[in-house]
Amino acid sequence: MSQEVRESRGPAVEEGAGVQTTSPKSSLVREREGGVDQKKVVFARPRGLTEAHTIYCPGCTHGIIHRLVAEVLEELDLLERTVGVGSIGCSVLIYDYLNVDMISAAHGRALAVATGVKRVLPDRFVFTYQGDGDLASIGTAETVHAAARGERVTAILVNNGVYGMTGGQMAPTTLPGMRTTTSPAGRDPALTGFPIRMPEMLASLEGAVYLARVTVTSPKEVLRAKRVLKRAFEVQLQGLGFSLVEFLSSCPINWKMDPVDALRYIETEVVKYYPLGEIKVPEGWKPLA
Ligand code: SF4
Repeated sequence: MSQEVRESRGPAVEEGAGVQTTSPKSSLVREREGGVDQKKVVFARPRGLTEAHTIYCPGCTHGIIHRLVAEVLEELDLLERTVGVGSIGCSVLIYDYLNVDMISAAHGRALAVATGVKRVLPDRFVFTYQGDGDLASIGTAETVHAAARGERVTAILVNNGVYGMTGGQMAPTTLPGMRTTTSPAGRDPALTGFPIRMPEMLASLEGAVYLARVTVTSPKEVLRAKRVLKRAFEVQLQGLGFSLVEFLSSCPINWKMDPVDALRYIETEVVKYYPLGEIKVPEGWKPLA
C-alpha cells in the first residue's frame, strides 16, 4: 500500500487553531466551550475503509462487519502491516473496500494462502474474510488443518446460512427446516445432514486457541462483536495460535425477508442453533462478561 494511496483514501482530518474539522462525509456537532463555538467529530469513516461503494444488497450486514474490521485494525495500529486474504462469495470485492494490502484466494483456499503469507512474512498481521460456503464447505480441509497447525492467523467467518452470491443455495450451515433454492421444502437433516458449528468443531484442536461467535443485529451486539474481534486479533499479535470469529450475518435477499425481519430472524431463530459467545479462550484469559 503506497503512501499516496493511503493519503488519498483516508478521511481528511485537519487540526488548526484549536478547531478540528473533517471531510464533508463526517458528522459534526457544535459545542460551546468557554463561550467559543467548537466542532467535535462524532462519526467518521475509519482509515481502514476506502471510499468505494459496496455491491452488497440493502440490509446486508457484510458492510457492518467490514467497518468493524477496519476500526479494529486502525485502533491496533495494524493498517500498515496487514495482509488480508479475501475469498469467493459476495465479499469477493473486499480488496476494494478495505484500505490494506489484500490477496484474493481461490474458492476455499484463503487459509492456505494466509498460511503461506504468515510463514514468509511473520511480522505481518494476516487475516482471512470468508463466507460459510467458502470456509465451512469448500475450504473445510484448509480450515481444519490451519487450526490444527496453530497457524498464527485470524479467520473471519461470515455465516448467513446460504450461498448468497450464486442465488441462495443450501450451505453446510443452513438451519434444519430452512428453505433455500436447493431445499425448497426446507432442509431435511435426514437427507442432507446437520449444520456445522465451526468454532465448536475446532475447539478440540490444540492449535485453535480463540474461537467465538458474534452477531451485529443491534448496537449492543455490534459493540460486543468489536471487543471479540479485537481479542482474536490480539491472540495473533501475541503469537498464541489460530483464532476464528464467526459472525452470524443476514442475507435478506435470499432469505426473502425485509432487512429488519432478517435481523429479528437471527436474534430469534439462528442463535438457537448457533449460540453467541466465546467458545474457547487462551489459557489464563478471562471470558468476556
Ligand atoms: S446476496 Fe445476501 S449475502 Fe450477498 S450481498 Fe446480498 S444480502 Fe448480502
